[in-house]
Amino acid sequence: MKAIFIEKPGDTQSVSVTEVSEDLLPEGDVLVDVAFSTLNYKDALAITGAAPVVRSFPMVPGIDFSGTVAASAHPDFKPGDRVVLNGWGVGETHWGGLAERARVSGDWLVPLPGAIDLRQAAAIGTAGYTAMLCVLALERHGVTPDQGEIVVSGAAGGVGSVATALLAAKGYEVAAVTGRTSEADYLRGLGASSVIDRAELTGKLRPLAKERWAGGIDVAGSTVLANMLSMMKYRGVVAACGLAAGMDLPASVAPFILRGVTLAGVDSVMCPKPDRLEAWARLASDLDLGKLAEMTVELPFAQVIETSPRFLEGAVRGRIVVPVS
Ligand code: NDP
Repeated sequence: MKAIFIEKPGDTQSVSVTEVSEDLLPEGDVLVDVAFSTLNYKDALAITGAAPVVRSFPMVPGIDFSGTVAASAHPDFKPGDRVVLNGWGVGETHWGGLAERARVSGDWLVPLPGAIDLRQAAAIGTAGYTAMLCVLALERHGVTPDQGEIVVSGAAGGVGSVATALLAAKGYEVAAVTGRTSEADYLRGLGASSVIDRAELTGKLRPLAKERWAGGIDVAGSTVLANMLSMMKYRGVVAACGLAAGMDLPASVAPFILRGVTLAGVDSVMCPKPDRLEAWARLASDLDLGKLAEMTVELPFAQVIETSPRFLEGAVRGRIVVPVS
């Protein structure tokens, strides 16, 4: 089978497109013919080696994929079923989606809702499913459209683009934060009601700033998240899922203890299956597939490796789908 293959015989890793024997696939009770994989921020980290995402070598990267079941010993799946997989350490500790076949635990697979085809499932990918988990986190904490604008950081990226479209579809006003104000038309096209220069959230941090937003979805961490928290309205809620600006959080407790602000963490990798099923069902019902198409570009398998460094420079817009077979 054709695969992207990361090896690390010594101190440095090498990555190539190569033919790998299917016999070497890791253990699992479901064999999947992968139709599409994607390129997420974490995949770019794995492929470039910029961060220690890959925990065992050799590794097939690709933290998500969509495809069709080829063989199954799992009671929930049979050959021909359309499935999607996000996370569970796939592409990090277990061979992932950037190969023609994947062998995984059936417990990790989500049956694809009928409204979503295999390409759309990959276009949504881990970024889109995480965006949905963030929206669900806001809802669970009682955020409703009448409470005010929701701020979304990294809005032109994968999580941010899908979050913007999902929130707009549910009637929220979305303040899209971007370092690329040249993408303002794109963001308004996804449904953003205002576009904010990222510089407004990277300045000197004040414990409390003027109350601006009822909620937030943050992919950046660091000063962006800290400033976002300081600008929340009374009882605002921020769903935090990313670290594009950094792992640190130079914040004060003032928003929490003086405004009752909630910081809700969102993890997609080990997220329990019932939450995944809910997220994918909501993606099927809420996401405007026309907007999904607008934010998606296709990347040939052969160009994944050379494109990965650009991804880390924040030069990629929206979502990248990789046809695998
Ligand atoms: P993308 O690269 O597609 O998007 C990230 C966006 O963040 C960029 O497009 C850019 O948007 C913005 N950005 C880049 N650098 C900075 C910076 N220094 N400060 C502030 N914003 C910045 O990545 P994804 O959308 O796939 O992922 C976003 C983040 O979420 C990543 O950190 C990723 O690891 C994390 N993530 C976490 C998951 C989880 O389970 N918790 C799951 C999926 C992703 P713009 O140009 O518009 O500012």
